[in-house]
Amino acid sequence: MGDIVTSELFSNIKGLLLDINGVLYVGNRLLPGAADVIKALRDRDMPFRVVTNNTTESLVTLHKNLTMMGLAIKQHEIISAPYAAVLHLRKIGQPKCFLLLNDEVLPDFEEFPISETDADVVVVGDMGEGWNYRVLNRAFHLVMRGAELIALHKGRYWQWEAGLQLDIGAFVTGLEYSTEQTATLIGKPSPSFFKLALDDLGLTAGEVAMVGDDIEADIGGAQSVGLKGILVKTGKYRDALTAKSGVTPDLTLNSISELTPLLQSEP
Ligand SMILES: [Mg+2]
Repeated sequence: MGDIVTSELFSNIKGLLLDINGVLYVGNRLLPGAADVIKALRDRDMPFRVVTNNTTESLVTLHKNLTMMGLAIKQHEIISAPYAAVLHLRKIGQPKCFLLLNDEVLPDFEEFPISETDADVVVVGDMGEGWNYRVLNRAFHLVMRGAELIALHKGRYWQWEAGLQLDIGAFVTGLEYSTEQTATLIGKPSPSFFKLALDDLGLTAGEVAMVGDDIEADIGGAQSVGLKGILVKTGKYRDALTAKSGVTPDLTLNSISELTPLLQSEP
């Protein structure tokens, strides 16, 4: 990527969205340069939000983990898929919920009543090793009775230290297939998720770039609502996945560490 093109890209950018997993850290390992980028954003007074489809940690835990890894990010600067789901549920009112979530993230949803038998909504997040026929069949019955099927995201796979791992999109798609319903998508690449983040920043789509390792959810999703997409070749990035996605990033960086000089060189 030439300097002129990069400079043009950044000339209109007033804020950033940063994916967390695969961009700032992988597993429990902070990626080199992640802390420097946050510092550069502070030095430049550029507002940002970290936006994540992470469905296994509450906002409080996410904030604690980011802080422990040495990233000076405030809790209000985190927008997670579970938090976006809470905002969606509040718009409905006080729906009775059947939550396919792990225990760790349940505190984010404590304001809503729970029902296994007459839920108004079924929220599909991550149950880790807890997935089984009983909970999926219960979700199936509730949706067949008219409950809204809500998916925190439809990720195909995620990157762990041991390699790519099956993600919850497989279960969401299975429920959609059997119930013949389409899930309401909450996290990336849902346009409503990016609009929520823009509203929170107080910026327009043309003023913001999204930095991510997921060519479809991060880059394709951001571009579809008018943001610029900056792809990093860490985390779940694979050459072949990018090639077959049909998505062209506005900028590709080897890692987040290459972003810092770009932030420092621009006015
Ligand atoms: Mg990621």
